[in-house]
Amino acid sequence: VSTLRIAVVGADAAGMSAAHTALRAARAAGRAVLVTAIEATEHTSYSACGIPYWIAGDVPGGDDLVARTAQEHRAAGIDLRLGTRAVGLDLARRVVTCVGEVPGEVEYDELVLATGAVAIVPDWARTPDGGLVAGVHPVKNLDDGAHWIELLAGAGERDGPARAVVVGGGYIGIEMAEALLRRGLSTTLVTRGRVMGSLDDDMGGRVGAAMVAAGVDVHTGTTVERLETDEGRVSGVVTAAGDRFPADVVVLAIGVEPATALGGDAGLPLGIADGYLPDAGGRIAPGVWAAGDCCEVEHRLTRTRTFLPLGTHANKLGRVVGDNLLGADRRFGGALGTAITRFVAGGVHAEISRTGLSSDEAGAAGHDVVALVTEGSTASGYMPEAAPIATKVIADRTTRALLGVQVVGGPGSAKRVDAAAAALWGAMSVDDLAGMDLSYAPPFATTWDALQISARRLAERI
Ligand SMILES: Cc1cc2nc3c(=O)[nH]c(=O)nc-3n(C[C@H](O)[C@H](O)[C@H](O)COP(=O)(O)OP(=O)(O)OC[C@H]3O[C@@H](n4cnc5c(N)ncnc54)[C@H](O)[C@@H]3O)c2cc1C
Repeated sequence: VSTLRIAVVGADAAGMSAAHTALRAARAAGRAVLVTAIEATEHTSYSACGIPYWIAGDVPGGDDLVARTAQEHRAAGIDLRLGTRAVGLDLARRVVTCVGEVPGEVEYDELVLATGAVAIVPDWARTPDGGLVAGVHPVKNLDDGAHWIELLAGAGERDGPARAVVVGGGYIGIEMAEALLRRGLSTTLVTRGRVMGSLDDDMGGRVGAAMVAAGVDVHTGTTVERLETDEGRVSGVVTAAGDRFPADVVVLAIGVEPATALGGDAGLPLGIADGYLPDAGGRIAPGVWAAGDCCEVEHRLTRTRTFLPLGTHANKLGRVVGDNLLGADRRFGGALGTAITRFVAGGVHAEISRTGLSSDEAGAAGHDVVALVTEGSTASGYMPEAAPIATKVIADRTTRALLGVQVVGGPGSAKRVDAAAAALWGAMSVDDLAGMDLSYAPPFATTWDALQISARRLAERI
């Protein structure tokens, strides 16, 4: 049998999960493979998720966020080509054309597209020549992280940056507001919608209130229209309503979009969010596979395609693809929209998580939605650990199926969502969740866990 030539475009979470899984599968099968990984930047296999904590000062340097170095990939047998961008794809000839440090054509038998997503940069953040206004920057990759470390040099000192505006109220905006507040900047958050819009209003509102209590100046329903500059550097943000917020630095956290131009130009089908549409095995066309943020994945509850750019899916689908490249028949089980974050600054500790469908999403999917928020405690009330926790359980009134859970609370709150995610994965009812054998001891939970109290109360009302 001839050597199987695998080309991987994009050498971060999804691409390198696929590459290493394929190497392991080939070794197990005694099959010769040649894996070429093409990466536009100088970085591989790093945790973008850790960047806000690097900027906040919890993590000493960008290198600490690297899970596997280029040398480690190469030692494992991968032909890793850094600083090399794939710019053309000929599906008929099975050839990728590259420019950069290793220019030329890469021939493949199997191709993995793992190009991730790019941060959305609005026109108002750009200079006339298409660059970014100085002091304004997104938070996407390690280079962006390093840029933020530079921008924030001297923060908290007399001549350092003192005022920040975060644009976008999603989880990256919240994590950056935490980082900036902890670095000593007076911080404003401006968002077109609500804070944490993936939660129901009554739960997202709790996050916004926690941020206000910590000292963040939060403006929801507010659209940025333009910037003010002083000698080319940002000095303020002006909203559509004409309000002006002074700023030495501005975080762009208004979302990402799938990086799919390479395959799109080659004629591969794209979904409504412009993502690739892999089947459960990760295949998008004969000899072509995709995984990670460049994809729209299947929602396990609605069976529709959703753009959920999260590292957890990138790693899982990447692994599925890696095995299937060598002929396995593994399947990605779908996504529930499970997500977790926190806002910890200014004396406030708010943990935030969600899984399944929000009330709006459940309604749009045709459910007869019933939902309830319950206030509880993370530990027995007599324990010093006890902190407030609000849990929202969303279910279908007719079938009693559990549809979603959202949590906002103090230390120890957010990871409770995983029990709910497991219940959703197993298609349980709200009664099942209320009756499950969950753990209890005074420092960790109340005798009935907050999640179960919430499920039980909702079950009683249906
Ligand atoms: C600040 C931040 C915090 C996050 N926090 C979390 C979290 O807490 N939990 C979570 O689950 N997820 C989190 N994420 C999301 C997570 O980082 C991504 O889902 C994950 O990185 C996706 O992996 P990927 O391999 O699909 O794409 P990426 O990590 O974007 O990698 C794609 C790679 O492809 C390269 N590339 C693109 N086009 C080309 C081309 N044409 N040629 C060559 N190379 C190319 C890019 O340079 C990039 O290195 C966070 C993201 C950010 C930015």
